[in-house]
Amino acid sequence: MDDDLFIERALESATETRFLLTAAGARHDSAAVFEKQFGTAPAIVITDESTFAAAGRDVVDSFHRNGHPVADPFVFGPDVYAEDRCVQQLQAALTGVEGIPVAVGSGTINDLTKLVAHRLNRPYLAVATAASMDGFTAYGASITDKGSKQTFDCPAPQAVLADLEVIAAAPPGLNASGYADLIAKIAAGADWMIADAAGIEPIRPDVWATVQSRLHHWVSSPAGIRNSDPTALRSLVAGLMMSGFAMQAARSSRPASGAEHQFSHLWDMQHHTHNGVAPSHGFKVGIGTLASIGLYDELIRRDLTSRSVDDLMQRWPTAEQLESKIRDLFEPGELAEKAVEETRAKYASRSQLREQMNRLHAAWPELKQRLQQQLIPFSRLRDMLAEAGAAFEPEQIGISRTRLRLSYEQAFYIRRRFTVLDLAMLSGEGEAAMDELFSHTGCWAAGAGRS
Ligand SMILES: [Zn+2]
Repeated sequence: MDDDLFIERALESATETRFLLTAAGARHDSAAVFEKQFGTAPAIVITDESTFAAAGRDVVDSFHRNGHPVADPFVFGPDVYAEDRCVQQLQAALTGVEGIPVAVGSGTINDLTKLVAHRLNRPYLAVATAASMDGFTAYGASITDKGSKQTFDCPAPQAVLADLEVIAAAPPGLNASGYADLIAKIAAGADWMIADAAGIEPIRPDVWATVQSRLHHWVSSPAGIRNSDPTALRSLVAGLMMSGFAMQAARSSRPASGAEHQFSHLWDMQHHTHNGVAPSHGFKVGIGTLASIGLYDELIRRDLTSRSVDDLMQRWPTAEQLESKIRDLFEPGELAEKAVEETRAKYASRSQLREQMNRLHAAWPELKQRLQQQLIPFSRLRDMLAEAGAAFEPEQIGISRTRLRLSYEQAFYIRRRFTVLDLAMLSGEGEAAMDELFSHTGCWAAGAGRS
C-alpha cells in the first residue's frame, strides 16, 4: 500500500477531517476544494503578512478565478502568537462577517483559526504553508491564555491542503521542527508500549498502525528535509497529518505524545525563552525525544527485574512524600499546583501498583526486545536531528545540562500520562539511570555531542 492509499484509509476513520490534498501548487486549487466541502458558502482567508505573500494571495485569487464569493482577507501583523489576545482579535473580526474560514499558515494561524471557527460554530479549511508540527489535523488548539499554555477542545479542519511548493520554500527551521515533532513518535510509541504492558492504557491497534507502521520510513531521509527534497517533504507531511488523524480517532494525544512532549510542555510552562524568543515546538520536542531515548537506552541496559516487587513496594513513596518532593523541585506557583494535581491523579493504590509492577516484571524480557526494535539509538537519533537541521543539543535551545537534569525530575510530575519517566520511577532504577546519563560516560556528558 502506498502512502496515498494509506492516508485515504486513515481519513475514513478520522472523525473530523474528510479530505487531504498534498501536492505542489495545491494552493491554486483552494476554491475547488472549498466548493466540494462547503458548496456556495462564502469564504474568508485568514493569514499573517508572510503567509499571505507565500500562499494567501494565490488562495484568494483562486476564489476570484472561480467566481466564488470571498470576503476581504484577515491578515495578522507581525506580532501574531497563539495567545488569547489574537483569539479575541480574530473572533471580533469574524463575528458579523459571513464566511467559512480558510486558514493559510502554519501552527499559529491554524490554532487561532481552529479555536475561533469552533467558537463561531463554523467548519474551516486549512492550507498548510510549512510542515512544522502535527497540529494541522489534530483535535484541539494550543493557545496561551493568561500566561499559561492550554489545549482548548475544538475540532480539526474539515479539509487540509498541503502545498509542497510553499512548504519547500518555508522559512529555515520550520520543516526541521516538524521533522523533530514526527521523529518524537518513536519515543511516544515506546511510552504507549510500556503503558500497555503495565495494564494502564491499552494500545488500540488501528490507531497505533496509523502513526507507527510507516514511521521509520517517513523519518528516513533527514538530509532531504534540510534540502527541501520533494519526496522527503511529502513523507514528512504524510507522517504529521497521519499523527493528527490518529489523535482525532483516539480523542487523545496519546498516539503522538509521551515523555518527550512533557519536557517541551515543562519548558513552555516555565516560559522558557532563548535569545528572547520561545524555541519552536519541534526543537523542544526533539531534545525531549533525545532525553526520553537516552533514558530508555539506560533502562534497557539495566535489569529492571533485579529488585523484587515486594522490595519496590516498600520503597514506593507515599502521596505526601511525593507532594513534598514537588514543593522542593518547583517554585511556588501555578506549575507546582499543576504538578501536585497531575501527580495525585496518577497516584496508584497499593493494589494497583503491585499489579502494574507484576505485569511489567513479567513482560520485561520480551518487552525489552520490542522496545529495542521500536527505538532508534541515541547517537543515531541525534545525527538524524542534526542532518534535518533541527536542534540536537539542549544548549541550542538554551537548556543547560544542569537544567536538563532537573527537567528529568520535574517532567515526571507535570502530567498523569504513563511514560518512560514512570517506568524509571517504578523500577527503582530511575535516579541511578539519570545520574549515569550525565556522568562522563553518559549520553549527556558535557561535550559528548557532535560538533
Ligand atoms: Zn508535538
